[in-house]
Amino acid sequence: MHNIFYADSGSVAVEVAMKMAVQASISKTGDHRRTNFVTIRSGYHGDTWNAMSVCDPVTGMHGAFGPALPIRFFAPAPTIKPWEEWDRSDFEPLERIVTDHHKELAALILEPMVQGAGGMRFYHPEYLREARKLCDRYGIYLIFDEIATGFWRTGRFFAWEHAGAEPDIMCIGKGLTAGYLTMSAVLTTADVADTISRGEAGVMMHGPTFMANPLACAIAVESLRMLNEQDMASRVAHIENRIRHHIAPASALPGVKDVRVLGSIGVIEMNEPVNLAEFQRKCIDCGIWVRPFGRNVYVMPPYVISDDDIETLITQTIECIR
Ligand SMILES: *Cc1c(COP(=O)(O)O)cnc(C)c1O
Repeated sequence: MHNIFYADSGSVAVEVAMKMAVQASISKTGDHRRTNFVTIRSGYHGDTWNAMSVCDPVTGMHGAFGPALPIRFFAPAPTIKPWEEWDRSDFEPLERIVTDHHKELAALILEPMVQGAGGMRFYHPEYLREARKLCDRYGIYLIFDEIATGFWRTGRFFAWEHAGAEPDIMCIGKGLTAGYLTMSAVLTTADVADTISRGEAGVMMHGPTFMANPLACAIAVESLRMLNEQDMASRVAHIENRIRHHIAPASALPGVKDVRVLGSIGVIEMNEPVNLAEFQRKCIDCGIWVRPFGRNVYVMPPYVISDDDIETLITQTIECIR
C-alpha cells in the first residue's frame, strides 16, 4: 500500500476510509446505490458521524443518536478465538448479508483480530481470510481499522499479518505517534487511488486543515524509527509472556468470566459490569491506573514497561478485582 492520506485523528481516518470506499465504488461501477457498509457487532471505530454508525449498535452511541445515524448492516460478532479450532459457521452470517446486499455495499469494515473498545474480543484469523475472499467475490472493498491494533500491539506490526489477508484500505492512528500528538493516516492500494482519480470528482474529496501536521509527523517518524531499531516481535512476545504469567490466577476469582491475552493486551472479563468509580478509587490506592469499560478490565501497557511494572500492574489489578 503506497498511497497514503494523512488525517488528524482516528475517527477522521475512519471517515476518510469510508469516503474513499464510496468514491472508488461509484467510480468503478457507475452505480450510485453501492454506498452502504457492512460490519460486525461489538466493533468500535470512533466518535464522528459515520464512524459511530459502524460502532456496535448496543455498546456504541446508537442509543443516543440512533435515528440521526445512517443505517448499516451488522453481522453478529465472531465468536471463535484465535487459539480455538476454526468453524466456518462463525463466518456464515456475514456471508449471507453480503450475498443478499452486495449491490448496496461499498465496503466491509472490521478491526482485524481484536475488537477493542466495543468489547475487547479476540477472533480467529481465518475470519479475515474468509472476509478477503468474500469481498473479492462481490467486488466490495475491505477496510481494516488498525488504529488500536497497529504498530505491534497484537504481536505483529499489523494485526492482519496474523491472517495474511491484506485490506484494500487501512486506517492507522494511536500508536503512530506513540500517544504524543494526534495524527492518523489512511493507506490504500494504487488501484483504489487510481479508481478514485478516474471518478467524477477526479480527486479524493477530503482535506483537513491540519493533515500531515509537521510536528505530529516528526514524532511519528521518530517513533517509527525507534520501533524499527528494535526486535519488536521478541519485545512484544516477552510482554505477552509476562502478562500471561501474572494474569493466570485471575481465572480462579469469583465473578470472572474469561481471561485472555494477545500480544501486549491482557483482558479480564467479568460476569457483571464493573463499578467504575469504586474500582478506580481502589486502583489509585493500589498505585496503578486501569480504566475498565463495561465488563472488561484490561491492560495495554506501553512497550517500555519494565518486568517489575508489569508484575505490579497485573497483581494489583487482580487485587482490586478481589
Ligand atoms: C481509538 C479508535 C478509533 C478512534 O480514534 P480517535 O483518535 O480516538 O478518534 C477508531 N478505531 C479504533 C479501532 C480505535 O481504537
